[in-house]
Amino acid sequence: AGRVQGKKVFITGGAQGLGAAMASALAAEGAKVALADINFVGAEKTADDLNKTFGAETATAYELDVTDEGQWIAALEGANGAMGGISGLINNAGISSREGGIEELSLEGFRRLMSVNVDSVFLGAKHGIKYLAKNQPGSIVNISSIAGLIANHTSPGYNASKAAVWMLSKNIALYCAKKGLNVRSNSVHPTFIDTPILDPIRGMFGKEEAEAKLGRQVPMGRIGKPEEIGATAVFLISDESSFITGAEIKVDGGISA
Ligand code: NAD
Repeated sequence: AGRVQGKKVFITGGAQGLGAAMASALAAEGAKVALADINFVGAEKTADDLNKTFGAETATAYELDVTDEGQWIAALEGANGAMGGISGLINNAGISSREGGIEELSLEGFRRLMSVNVDSVFLGAKHGIKYLAKNQPGSIVNISSIAGLIANHTSPGYNASKAAVWMLSKNIALYCAKKGLNVRSNSVHPTFIDTPILDPIRGMFGKEEAEAKLGRQVPMGRIGKPEEIGATAVFLISDESSFITGAEIKVDGGISA
């Protein structure tokens, strides 16, 4: 049996990048996955690909803007019906933007970053815990960033939003534990990983040079691969991590060491 056999995992931002990579890694280890994204077409395509590879029951797709409470309620209910429960929730959908320093970033831009990156985790846990409670043991994985732990002078909104994800993840861990639920919550903190989120930097310097430039900032000398976040998600969703909750897992090639 796979390492997450029988797990039923709801993944936001599942249309591409890390969300799709985590879905693929989980499906390969026996999980059912529900892919939710504001880009429904991309999520549906990813789900089709997974069903072709792992079988037609593996993946379903949902249209979800993670800032919209009503859409969260509908998508969770749909996925619960399709998978026969939800035992894992991965809050992965997120945005970064070219912000500039705090004097350059607009209030609107700041609020947008906070809304997509933080309201998403709040709403996902607020409405998702009851499903996980019915399918214990449950696991919530919140994708923060190394930028949630270490500041960068040109990312005030991203820094603040990802630090909020880190602390909210711990709050959810304590809430569930104190409530007597076997539902864990942990945050993942990647450094630069090869996904479309790096496209603006690739646009500025060209693909090769951008990746080399970013890689030079990492002690291991390279940017990360989406599969390396996929492997982390498999571990945190699986019962291998059964006593790990309220933790932050850095997947960063040593950049924060
Ligand atoms: P990506 O841009 O490739 O994918 C993000 C996905 O989220 C897209 O499919 C997008 O449609 C979806 N999304 C955006 N806004 C949404 C909304 N309002 N509602 C629903 N879905 C929405 O980025 P990625 O690199 O795969 O990033 C995934 C997560 O990992 C993000 O939270 C990001 O901050 C975090 N992260 C990424 C890196 C990296 O270098 N790739 C590093 C650290 C953290």
